[in-house]
Amino acid sequence: MGAAFATQIRHSNRWGLYQISSFFRTFAPPFNSDYFDRTIIILPMQEDLFKRLVSHCKEYGFIYPSSEVYDGLNGVYDYGPMGVELKNNIKEYWWRSMVQMHENITGIDSAIFMHPLIWKASGHVDAFNDPLVDNKDSKKRYRADVLVEGEIDKMIAKADKEVDKAAKRFGETFDEKLYRETNPRVLEYTQKAEATEKRLANALKNNDMADLKALIEELEIADPDTGSRNWTEVRQFNLMFSTQMSNIGGDDGKLYLRPETAQGIFVNFSNVQKTTRQKIPFGIAQIGKAFRNEIVARQFIFRMREFEQMEMQFFVRPGTEMEWYNTWKARRMAWHRAVTPAEKLRFKDHDNLAHYANAAVDVQFEFPFGFKELEGIHSRTDFDLGSHSQLSGKKMQYFDPELNEHYTPYVVETSVGCDRMVLSVLSNALVEETVPDAQGEDSSRTVLRVHPALAPVKCAVLPLLKNKDELVEKAREVYDKLKFHFICQYDEKDAVGRRYRRQDAIGTPYCVTIDFETLENNTVTIRERDSMEQVRVPITEVAKIVGDKTDMRKLLEMLA
Ligand code: ATP
Repeated sequence: MGAAFATQIRHSNRWGLYQISSFFRTFAPPFNSDYFDRTIIILPMQEDLFKRLVSHCKEYGFIYPSSEVYDGLNGVYDYGPMGVELKNNIKEYWWRSMVQMHENITGIDSAIFMHPLIWKASGHVDAFNDPLVDNKDSKKRYRADVLVEGEIDKMIAKADKEVDKAAKRFGETFDEKLYRETNPRVLEYTQKAEATEKRLANALKNNDMADLKALIEELEIADPDTGSRNWTEVRQFNLMFSTQMSNIGGDDGKLYLRPETAQGIFVNFSNVQKTTRQKIPFGIAQIGKAFRNEIVARQFIFRMREFEQMEMQFFVRPGTEMEWYNTWKARRMAWHRAVTPAEKLRFKDHDNLAHYANAAVDVQFEFPFGFKELEGIHSRTDFDLGSHSQLSGKKMQYFDPELNEHYTPYVVETSVGCDRMVLSVLSNALVEETVPDAQGEDSSRTVLRVHPALAPVKCAVLPLLKNKDELVEKAREVYDKLKFHFICQYDEKDAVGRRYRRQDAIGTPYCVTIDFETLENNTVTIRERDSMEQVRVPITEVAKIVGDKTDMRKLLEMLA
């Protein structure tokens, strides 16, 4: 697809800023602001963008491959100085939106190691599997369901292409719905996609690995790397990592690295309910590491073997779970939309429900490689509490004073991957644009238009020249005051224009420059990242201006 380019511009004043959306779709709504008039964005195709995103993350200290000096460890990544700040801000946004904003949600931090029977009760020992298939020629290993899903995506893409072509041909009179319902070629692709999706769901549900293999053969799926169709049988592979406790031998001492944080919440249900005296409905939130021995860990931090989850289990009266499921669907979508353009998000119902669920939906984000799961919302019934009660022999019930009866609460779960959230924020924010330089000539800049409340560094303090002691001294004085309010950077190296560009690339919303006028009247210029506009303000106002604009409160208020 090499030389193809896409140009895309979007206008939003949600953050009180103009925002140019990143990446992938090509559309140009009407716009007339000066800002847009002098801004052109030229973006290469998605694969290039993804590569650029990965290298940007390394170059600017967001994300490094783990153990890089030993050539890395597949599916494991380290967060650098900027990445850890961004990730912490995302966690804070989630935590405060759950725990601070809801009187009936409290947090916990449970251990990663747990009693091995927990994973028996939860079903993970027996059923936390993915279907694995090896290619005999290339010796490469794949998830069989992902191979089939890839084929389904291709069928849908073919149908979409037909529709796009027709839309261009017919212009304004084009009726997309009618065309999709009647055009034989579009119908053929969509019906085949639906039938394949259904068959895949059935094969997974019935643990029918033979049918999955048959599907791969019928669809003539080839190894994406080599084109070989020489596949092994499909077999189930358990995704849990295990380790051994030092003082207990054999299977009794076999521990698992938790594959989800949720079970730590379930087994603490009674502890938390008693100590907080919460009445149903109430929730327990937790952020923590999870580990999965993914068959194919790829797409950067999208699918890792060690990752972090932000999970909340909401305990409700049986029979009310669908109401709460819908409530949490809406709340979670609002949370995402506060930091991500709506058109990049969508719901996708599960075709294949997990053994514990009676309803499940994913919040999908349009990653550089297509719409994929960012968060899962499940109605988990009373499966987990019931199962732990049974296996442990300790009742995990709730006495409902209004009904005057004991019952096992039902659970609605929201579970979002912290790393996938980082990836979605970064891929949405990274933009390359052409802007005028100091001489009015076109120059390009890379800017990370991340929401100011999530930005790793809130403010950079820059003396205009580094060889003027008075400027450096004053800038240090300003920095030493601002650092009590938020994360700042002091930077004196290179021309000020280059320093602005460095801050743009890490998404710093404000740069404060100390110049000769500062020495005369104690005012500084503040430059805003997106508009690049500069205003002069008294030094005494900087902390308030930057603090107000970057306050997490702004995001939380959007959820109210
Ligand atoms: P997938 O279908 O992509 O494997 P899942 O349905 O198994 O994901 P859940 O068990 O619902 O995922 O986990 C909740 C969230 O945890 C997911 O929405 C995702 O954001 C995150 N997550 C799951 N697996 C991984 C992984 N290997 N790497 C990074 N994040 C993950």
